[in-house]
Amino acid sequence: AESPELLGVGGLTTGYGAEPVLHAVDLQVREGEMVALLGANGAGKSTLMRSLSGLHKPLQGGIHLGGVELSGLPAEQIVRLGLVLVPEGRQVFPELSVLDNIRLGAFLHPEGREQRVEEMLTRFPRLRERLHQRAGLLSGGEQQMLAIARALMSRPRVLLLDEPSLGLAPKVIAELFAALDRLRGENMTLLLVDQMAALALALADRAYVLENGQVVARGTAAEIAADPALAKAYLGAH
Ligand code: ATP
Repeated sequence: AESPELLGVGGLTTGYGAEPVLHAVDLQVREGEMVALLGANGAGKSTLMRSLSGLHKPLQGGIHLGGVELSGLPAEQIVRLGLVLVPEGRQVFPELSVLDNIRLGAFLHPEGREQRVEEMLTRFPRLRERLHQRAGLLSGGEQQMLAIARALMSRPRVLLLDEPSLGLAPKVIAELFAALDRLRGENMTLLLVDQMAALALALADRAYVLENGQVVARGTAAEIAADPALAKAYLGAH
């Protein structure tokens, strides 16, 4: 049996000025699912992630999480309700230590904080080795792990990941995707935007393809991976 829908986007239209960037986007993520969102540069993937997170106001349409309407709520309230973004470019606090960055993720849920910090250090052993260093001194891959750990500290029901592999070496990307696969195995619900479309599809249950702000294809990850037109556009096939 399919698990129930957790995150639903209906008729979402938004833009930065008069020109809409997203046109009536519909998308669903079920509990425990990993969904990949693919599309060329400028298709509107980051705008969608920012809209879901309350960082950008939709012009029309609805966003709901477990039956609660999110559109129009302040970003902090959206995090509190369980929709948490790991933004593009990681955005850790470079002057703070690794430990303090992780702790900050618990600002809405301080109970049991130190125990959950310990869980994060078990999940990402590299962070334990760097615990008291300034986050700005970490490698790109370590900063990405840190950004994910910080997001997990806020007890997400759905984790949104915007381009986590951007700028990372292949070996580090493999490590990162292994960590995402582990989260998936723990039944975390994930919406993943990544340029590494083949890797994202290998992990994902389902996928959506955005083109010029519209959903042009949706299906199981296997269906999207097998579509020749999509393969040419997004998987680097010829
Ligand atoms: P990328 O992978 O390059 O980030 P994307 O699919 O995430 O691409 P968006 O960043 O959402 O795409 O951008 C979608 C469109 O919105 C683009 O045409 C972009 O130029 C425009 N856009 C994005 N941010 C802004 C902004 N702050 N002000 C005006 N236009 C913007």
